[in-house]
Amino acid sequence: MSKIRILPDALASQVAAGEVVERPAAVIRELVENSLDAGAKHVEVHVQRGGAALIRIVDDGGGMDREDALLCIERHATSKIRTKEDLAAIQTFGFRGEALPSIASVARFRLATREASALSGTEIEIHGGKMQHVRDYGGAPGTVIEVRSLFFNVPARRKFLRTENTEYSHVEQQFRLHAIANPHVAFTLTRDGDVMFHLPAANNMLERIRSLSGDELAGRLIEVEREERRGITIHGFIGGAGLSRSTKQFQLTFLNGRPIESPSIHYGLREGYHTVLMKGQNPVTFLFLEMDPHAFDVNVHPAKKEVRFHDGHTVREVVAAAVSNALAASRTLPTGHPSGFSRQAVPTTPETESPTPPLQLRSQAPSPPPPAQTFLPIDSRQHQAPPPPQRLTPTPRPVVQAPTTISPAPKSPPHTQPPPDSSPAESEADSFRIIGVLHHLYVLMENKEGLVLMDQHAAHERVMFEQMRRAMEEGGVPSQRLLIPITLQVSPQDADLINRNIEALSRLGIEAEPFGPNIFKVEALPTFLKTDDPMEWLDQVIEELKGMSGKASSLRLGEDMIATTVCRHAVKANDPLSIPELTALLKDLFLCEMPYCCPHGRPTLIQITAGELEKKFGRRTPG
Ligand code: ADP
Ligand code: MG
Repeated sequence: MSKIRILPDALASQVAAGEVVERPAAVIRELVENSLDAGAKHVEVHVQRGGAALIRIVDDGGGMDREDALLCIERHATSKIRTKEDLAAIQTFGFRGEALPSIASVARFRLATREASALSGTEIEIHGGKMQHVRDYGGAPGTVIEVRSLFFNVPARRKFLRTENTEYSHVEQQFRLHAIANPHVAFTLTRDGDVMFHLPAANNMLERIRSLSGDELAGRLIEVEREERRGITIHGFIGGAGLSRSTKQFQLTFLNGRPIESPSIHYGLREGYHTVLMKGQNPVTFLFLEMDPHAFDVNVHPAKKEVRFHDGHTVREVVAAAVSNALAASRTLPTGHPSGFSRQAVPTTPETESPTPPLQLRSQAPSPPPPAQTFLPIDSRQHQAPPPPQRLTPTPRPVVQAPTTISPAPKSPPHTQPPPDSSPAESEADSFRIIGVLHHLYVLMENKEGLVLMDQHAAHERVMFEQMRRAMEEGGVPSQRLLIPITLQVSPQDADLINRNIEALSRLGIEAEPFGPNIFKVEALPTFLKTDDPMEWLDQVIEELKGMSGKASSLRLGEDMIATTVCRHAVKANDPLSIPELTALLKDLFLCEMPYCCPHGRPTLIQITAGELEKKFGRRTPG
């Protein structure tokens, strides 16, 4: 007797449902995609109990006539593709004709739809795949879909639903993706009757990001200018140095308007943020890629979340280049707002803080006595560096002098005036006035926005890192012969790796040559290396090599090597520095390409605006 059966349709739908709609957020993804494909200008998403009790999507799109309304709930019924060729170049979100029948098979499903020109529309109700009724519908043009009691007839699936809050946070993330990908469409999200987001149609991406994520985050983004490279157009907004999140909530990437995840893009971002991102932190990105639909396959993931690029390597390189160029071109000072570095949540309501009014600049107010115990006076030891400009007197001055008043840095006397052709770094450094040093580590400074703190250790790390990198780019790292060469025995795989990268290693000051099967003789190491255990360090280098696919770029490898070694050289946290030393450090810092964070991504400078101080002192009510 044969054992193979064709599954009844209802069962087949339930099986498919498991893949397409594994949780409420996935139902929302499918339904909102349908609304967008139908040309909706406003999409409402309502959920109750995280979406498990009710999901209702209301759109003002084209709607369906009776025939289509009945067809759309059949499996493999789609209006979006007709031929194999269409599948190779998909322009719409949907194409499988699978979502509606799958959802209808695992919930109490109601569809009400009406074309604008039709006198009346159609309402269909299906419970667990069984048709309940079909009737006329008199509502507004567009489509309403309700999904109640998700998985009521599939207890095994229902068990996989998480807490209401968890499911809701997935819903919100899904909503965020749609909202960012479609700034010209208005979106509303309600949760148990409360409006969580109400996003009017925006004129541009930044406006949408602002109404979704708040002024605070939006204000700290830098633009990736639209540019085409090697067949990939890339544009959007990304967080500048010092802006990151411990979750991937705000690491949003899109391909031809579709939110996607892809290892190639992920690695490209990591590479672009190299030395700007702290370990364990994720970048904030709203990044859009556009390319020929023939160059990738969206049909590899049941939820269409992942795509496969035919040439992932190029994607990775283009993303990395776009990110690092944008970062290098931007120079914005991280603010000391508590959310600045690791806070996860940002305002989830569209209400945003009122912008800080411009400060009134007034000439110097009389100074109250300095708060003696809050910071140590600067060590004014003599130093080789040229004598400090007059204004850098070691006497600490108060941080805030009067409400809403910050004294502008006093004009330098004529002889210390920077020459007209002075570098931008110099004038940038000149906009700070050093006040004192806290805990032998944090340099307190004043600029016209308020208080600035510099982490002298992190700043020094950045300076050393870039100096070494420049040396490496310009002629290779100087190396030092070892008195006794090191013999390195490695696994066959590692030996192969070293052999393939021997040239790159030599440019980094590591002279190694084969010395027998899986054995290398290391005769020279970079001069800057100060370690008691060169073997361990070489192991680290080999690990780095493994992390880079194929042939390592000697530059990238060098950056990692340097980043892991500079720490040992950089000024110790509590090394006392004199004013001229600090001034020189600040100047050197602004000569860096990326002055605002250390090579490990920690901030070097933090701005606390006068406005924030005023709020803290209760002089101004929080916006
Ligand atoms: P797909 O989106 O892959 O085509 P679906 O099962 O999601 O498959 O939808 C089936 C069809 O139903 C769509 O191709 C579309 O023609 C129609 N449809 C679904 N939702 C809507 C909507 N909100 N407005 C208008 N038409 C819709
Ligand atoms: Mg669809």
